[in-house]
Amino acid sequence: SLQQRIHGTVLEINLNALTHNYNFYKTKLLPDTKVMVMVKAFAYGGGATEIANHLQQLKADYLAVAYTDEGVALREQGITLPIMVLNPMQESFVNLQKFDLEPVVYSPLFFLQLGKFCRNNRLSMKIHLDLDTGMHRLGFEENQVEDLLQLIKDYPELTIASLYTHLVGADEGAHQDYSLEQLELFIRMSAQITENLAYQPLRHALNSAGIIRYPEYQMEMVRLGIGLYGVEVNGKFDQALKPISTLKTTISQIKELKKGETVGYSRKGEMHENGKIATIAIGYADGYDRRFSNGKGIVLLNGHPVPVIGNVCMDMCMIDITGVEAKEGDEVTIYGPGISLKELAQRIGTIPYELLTNISSRVKRVYY
Ligand code: PLP
Repeated sequence: SLQQRIHGTVLEINLNALTHNYNFYKTKLLPDTKVMVMVKAFAYGGGATEIANHLQQLKADYLAVAYTDEGVALREQGITLPIMVLNPMQESFVNLQKFDLEPVVYSPLFFLQLGKFCRNNRLSMKIHLDLDTGMHRLGFEENQVEDLLQLIKDYPELTIASLYTHLVGADEGAHQDYSLEQLELFIRMSAQITENLAYQPLRHALNSAGIIRYPEYQMEMVRLGIGLYGVEVNGKFDQALKPISTLKTTISQIKELKKGETVGYSRKGEMHENGKIATIAIGYADGYDRRFSNGKGIVLLNGHPVPVIGNVCMDMCMIDITGVEAKEGDEVTIYGPGISLKELAQRIGTIPYELLTNISSRVKRVYY
């Protein structure tokens, strides 16, 4: 049940909202465009297995994880969708094969290592090529395409399932020119590769923000991440998406304090008037960022926004509830419908991605 509490804190995941968001992005795409969903980092904190299962029911086309063990965990839980691994390590080649995971290959050296592994073990593998068009993280650069083509010829054991690139700032109008240059370079590099192949790999470049901003570049597939989880980073369709996660906790104790008394470690919180505080069962070890200390964090108590007072502790923090009706055991919403994750993130100088992925593993996830 939703009230089930192991600790005071629970992360409720609304799978209907996830379906809603998935369908919203589908309406922005042509019927044949495939959707790869990013379920890396524990599906942005929401719980990879349950969300992958749900996506399988929704008939998503592909999943993507960052590391091989994330993919292995999904396979062990019975997920059968194709899974791309963004940053596989050489040590994980055996597991890639064993668990039918499809690695990204991003450099000539990595191509060679994987090619030799496949040859020595008499096996073949589907791979995805990361093309660096300006992110400068991983990926083949334009001047490496000739080398790449030679490697593709040398190692027919490796089949290219897709070619992709990643935009540096699809959510920011300021980077529109750069993004368009990236997309055009990607098209040129892809063409140079595919004209030397006897088959046609999928091409994909757009993340959630890109789907909204550059739909004409959807090509054969897109890579949906944060938008599925209910955050519309462009700010264009905020109302159309539904937050999928609600982080809730409870009040452990309420105290009456006098003007001038201090709250918590290092006496950082101070009562400016006589009033009331409540101690709630969430701290930085749950992923409630310590930067939310002293008024930076705002939570919802019985419909009222109230501020954090004092430093966030490891397992708890205090909120100033002066003037608000509340009792011990009452529920407090840290974020969810009615609280913008984007605004919360801005208050501490970060992005919604970090807030979502920071919710620690001891926080119980509940699905409905
Ligand atoms: N594609 C790649 C290669 C990524 O690393 C990510 C996320 O970081 C995404 C797509 C999804 O991006 P978003 O969550 O902004 O949709």
